[in-house]
Amino acid sequence: MSVPKQRHTKQRRDAKRDRFAIDQVKTQTCPKCGKEKLAHRVCAHCGFYKGKEVVNTVKETTKKQK
Ligand SMILES: [Zn+2]
Repeated sequence: MSVPKQRHTKQRRDAKRDRFAIDQVKTQTCPKCGKEKLAHRVCAHCGFYKGKEVVNTVKETTKKQK
């Protein structure tokens, strides 16, 4: 097994570790209901995307109850 000749600086070590860090999930507020939602995704609360209703959330909830 190879052995490192020189140790890296703390800055270089930490900069390397930073590349493995998980980014925080970026959310946007829904223009329809004002709840937080993922970007480029249908709002899970009201089912709207780009000002149009894509998913009927009222129907979906009644389906689950049956
Ligand atoms: Zn919404």
